Amino acid sequence: MADLKWHPSSWKSRTAAQIVDYPDQQHLKRVLTKINGLPPLVTPAEIERLRFQLAAVQRNEAFLLHAGDCAESFDACTQQNISAKIGLILSFSLILIWGGRLPVVRIGRIAGQYAKPRSSRTETIDNREVLNFRGDNVNGLDPNDRTPDPERLLSAYFHSTATLNYVRGLLTSGFASLHHPRDWSLSHVRSPALRSVYPCTCSCTPDFGYCFYRRSEFEKITQGLSDALDFSHTIGADSGRESVPFDRGGGRGVLGEVDFYTSHEGLMLDWEQAMTREADIIGSKSSPKEKGFYNTSAHFLWVGDRTRQLDGAHIEYFRGIRNPIGIKVGPSLENAELIRLLQIVNPNKEIGRVTLITRYGAGKIGDYLAGHIEAVKHSQHPVAWVCDPMHGNTLTSSSGFKTRNFATIISELTSCISIHAACGSRLGGVSLEFTGELNDEGFSVTECLGGSMGLSEEQLGLRYQSFCDPRLNFEQSLDVAFLISNHFKE
Ligand code: PEP
Ligand code: MN
Repeated sequence: MADLKWHPSSWKSRTAAQIVDYPDQQHLKRVLTKINGLPPLVTPAEIERLRFQLAAVQRNEAFLLHAGDCAESFDACTQQNISAKIGLILSFSLILIWGGRLPVVRIGRIAGQYAKPRSSRTETIDNREVLNFRGDNVNGLDPNDRTPDPERLLSAYFHSTATLNYVRGLLTSGFASLHHPRDWSLSHVRSPALRSVYPCTCSCTPDFGYCFYRRSEFEKITQGLSDALDFSHTIGADSGRESVPFDRGGGRGVLGEVDFYTSHEGLMLDWEQAMTREADIIGSKSSPKEKGFYNTSAHFLWVGDRTRQLDGAHIEYFRGIRNPIGIKVGPSLENAELIRLLQIVNPNKEIGRVTLITRYGAGKIGDYLAGHIEAVKHSQHPVAWVCDPMHGNTLTSSSGFKTRNFATIISELTSCISIHAACGSRLGGVSLEFTGELNDEGFSVTECLGGSMGLSEEQLGLRYQSFCDPRLNFEQSLDVAFLISNHFKE
């Protein structure tokens, strides 16, 4: 592999997996030129701040929560969906902060997570072979709308902007205030109608609809936190915002009162290139300041399990940007290949730059994780280890739904925690697909089996809304949060 001089477009001289074929290249070019001239969605200062905070994750001084939809859709870009998503991320992180007494770095799969990698180029619908749906920024879910259309990239830009604008608005308007945890948490603990559909299987009194045991746990946590904050406020020990001990510059958090960052899979390299801008590196001591290239469409980007070929276009693009990056690590990644990847994307072994997101499957993690941990340790590459217990555990239910079993998700997560401990390493975070979304009657989605609500195969069809991978709903997500939180307490 000859060394290339990196440039935002140098990926074009490599083979790109999952490439989209646009029939009209001139049209694509016009759209990309337009996008390249539009303002950045996030700033280099925010990106550097995340790198700094991920360095704290690597030192075990913070925990990373990476979560959101498998894929966002343009239609789901609504006030209700966005606030439900942010509300769940905040509730989840509150439980972790309480359990772990550690700051939580929150990165949403949001404001740009539109494109999806596919295992095949086409599918057969009604005896007709059509191109696969590749995400709202490429083509339509409707089988008659599968031709890739560059205008969708522009639409993705504006949907990302609208999403991010609302997130910034929410987080600067008290939505995340720890002084009012109820505003962003218990409003979700909801409709009494839940009880008729989800008989709770734990020992709580079912009359409360929502699992009472967990509800009271949650109330205890939010009340305890409120009291602690009121006290520090009274004695003047707080500055009115979340205390982030790993704060670099002081002042407000990114996107408001608390730090919140955005991410997506860096799949569509034309888009990523068009959103890449050169800027001074903040904190650079040299004069003139050292410059770097920032992908300004998200704070954090990850490279997927299907596009991380050593000599491929995606790794070529990823190696040149300043953003902190994630790499999906699955069973097909050899130990030596993993180290080679780290050398390519982080040759100077900079702390805060690389997060490894492992996703083996509950039945396979025991065969691979320890080897990967030992190889990375030996290479002395600094990384944060994050567990994605979702992507190796997808199955098809007897009724034909793509689903995941809560118990299997928990099994991969708990194995991951104990394998790290056995190897003298530590799990630095989780990467989940979840949604706090409710339907008009206030019901959660029904996409994953099990959890304390005991969601059964027959119930999957009730409110299966994902057009991509199945997501944990609000209740199932809080189950996971309490589990991790309890692990911290042990
Ligand atoms: C994803 O995170 O949505 C995804 C497709 O993951 P992976 O690349 O690990 O399969
Ligand atoms: Mn997914």
